[in-house]
Amino acid sequence: MVGELERLESAARDFDLFADDDFVDPARLAAVVNALQGKLCKVLHRSRMRGDHLLAGQGAVSWAAKTCKVSGNVAVDRLCVGAQLEEMPRVAEALSSGEIGYQAASTICHLQERVGQIGARIDEEMWIRNAKDFSIKDLREIATKTWHAVNPEDFCAAVEENFERRQLFISETDGMYRLDGWLEAEGGAAVKTAIDALAKRLGAADDRSNKQRRADALVEIAHHAMNQGTLPRRNGARPHITVTTTIEGLKGELGAAASDLQSGGPISSKTVQRLACDGTLSRVLKADSVVVDVGRATRSASPAQWRALKARHRTCSGPGCDRPVNWTSPHHIEFWSHGGPSNLSNLLPLCYYHHRLVHEGGWQVVRAGEGVRFIPPDRVIARRSRAPGMAWAA
Ligand SMILES: [Zn+2]
Ligand SMILES: [Zn+2]
Repeated sequence: MVGELERLESAARDFDLFADDDFVDPARLAAVVNALQGKLCKVLHRSRMRGDHLLAGQGAVSWAAKTCKVSGNVAVDRLCVGAQLEEMPRVAEALSSGEIGYQAASTICHLQERVGQIGARIDEEMWIRNAKDFSIKDLREIATKTWHAVNPEDFCAAVEENFERRQLFISETDGMYRLDGWLEAEGGAAVKTAIDALAKRLGAADDRSNKQRRADALVEIAHHAMNQGTLPRRNGARPHITVTTTIEGLKGELGAAASDLQSGGPISSKTVQRLACDGTLSRVLKADSVVVDVGRATRSASPAQWRALKARHRTCSGPGCDRPVNWTSPHHIEFWSHGGPSNLSNLLPLCYYHHRLVHEGGWQVVRAGEGVRFIPPDRVIARRSRAPGMAWAA
């Protein structure tokens, strides 16, 4: 006997095989897929009510996830939609006829499930209209506000539940760091607001992408917090990055051993030079691997010089850069590591982005009368260094 499901399977197979992809109306096809998704939810719900998952010796969610080959979160959504659609015939009909899409129906179902906990019912017609009038994002926002208004206690509990799920992973991999995490709404907004405030373009020549500027903003926040010297001490010292290098490494001499971050592997000599430019240096002399003299820590620019420099400048000296001087560090025009003096005429306040540009990015800063000029890296040299012996087309 050929049942309804077998007919659907064979129709779907034929459709996939014979319908010309160039001539199928995607909107109508999407409505069919949405309607079938709704049907699947109702079928799953009935199956759960019969206790099929108990026969399989599983919880309802893991059983649904396995049956539909989806994640646990998606399974929870399908079961909720299935249960609620049975109670909301108008929403079920709107989904089945293609009036509203699956995501909108799901938003409405989750709202009903939440307000249903205190015996409230939503107005189906009104929510179908909302689904047609608003984007999914806006619909979700209205639904969340409604949930908060109808059942504030449950809303608070859910916020706390989200808060419990907060997590941040920082892992080191292949010479880079990877960040992954979840923050609850308020904490995430605080982080995003702070990053956004620092992620704007710095001058017309700033060609970083949005994501690069956001990444730089996060690093800048960390540097700023450390430079302010207000972070709590650990083992008696303010948090800072420690680099181990040699005189040769500091000068970037050919053949010098790579310099090391105390917690993160080797770094380039250019980065060492930047860090030394505004850093605190400790002299450690060794003879046969035995420390014979630990010099006093000195800053490459003294606090007094730094104060004088800040009094002279309002912002970073990078071209068109408006980063306030408090967010910059002193750069030695003639590199400190190359013997450049730490006097005011050799110092320039640069933000993280521009400081990196002149050390690692190959830009040059030259004095021009009273001011300075920033010169982009010479392309010819950059090309030559890419592939020695290779001819470039004219
Ligand atoms: Zn510098
Ligand atoms: Zn700058």
